[in-house]
Amino acid sequence: MSNSVLALGTDNRAALRRLAETLGLPRLEPGWVWLAGAGPGDPGLASLHTLHAIAEADVILTDALANKALLQLARTDAQLVDAGKRGGKPSAAQETISRRLIAYARKGLRVLRLKGGDPFVFGRGAEEALALARAGIPFRVVPGVTAGIGGLAYAGIPVTHRDTNQAVTFITGSGANGAAPELDWAAIAKGSPTIVLYMARKHAGKIASALIAAGRDVNEPAAIISNASLKEQATVVTRLAALGDAAAVADTPAILVIGENVRLAAGLDWLGALSGRLLDADPLGRERLSDAG
Ligand code: SAH
Repeated sequence: MSNSVLALGTDNRAALRRLAETLGLPRLEPGWVWLAGAGPGDPGLASLHTLHAIAEADVILTDALANKALLQLARTDAQLVDAGKRGGKPSAAQETISRRLIAYARKGLRVLRLKGGDPFVFGRGAEEALALARAGIPFRVVPGVTAGIGGLAYAGIPVTHRDTNQAVTFITGSGANGAAPELDWAAIAKGSPTIVLYMARKHAGKIASALIAAGRDVNEPAAIISNASLKEQATVVTRLAALGDAAAVADTPAILVIGENVRLAAGLDWLGALSGRLLDADPLGRERLSDAG
């Protein structure tokens, strides 16, 4: 690493420390573990707590979805551990991660566990926190912007909107052992106007069929947002009956959303507008309807 890069790193860390001090934020102390969310991808969505912890940590265990660009803020002598697990691996890996967190903390290190999105949303953060609690290790949880909310916003889809959905359900498409989750699909179909699916590429077709069997319209809008908030972000808007096929060929990671709120993207795709997309001022067709009659 060149001297100027080193100096920049030191400056950045000093700046983060100053910001945190100004705002009276806590420091990551020796012997502590912080479980922090990195957000869905765009490094600008990581919180100040998370950035500050990256700059202070002695050891950082990062999962597969946390944006590695953030690690440029780490100390040059920090130990960076790639503790990524991608779907369906045996749970032994999870126990190993928890054991390592405990061992590092017992050595008196400042330990950061950096996770994509929010650590408590389908991220197994609670399992790790429980292991720390059982071991008597002090910890802090730093929530992050979760893909199922922030990822949708980057596609111009509000997770709730008064005219389309007064409720939303977050579901993992991958239950225990990677099988489709066993849920009361009839209750969800009836009770939840908007459904957001994490880790659902594989079982999207099955889930869509269950919802249709329970009464949801085959033509209900649905969207797949791949690489949300990253340069490679891509959105496919489809209908419920075609969701499985569209998901099968989508890039990962992908977040899926089913519901009338998907229509709002036609008016709110602010990121698309930056590259020339024309936005529809009346994406739900309400004004056109009232004009007509
Ligand atoms: N804790 C994370 C979720 C981990 S589960 C969070 O709060 O966001 C992993 C799943 O999250 C992926 O399979 C995908 O469904 C979703 N995901 C995470 N990052 C994403 C991104 N940048 N774009 C689209 N989906 C994403």
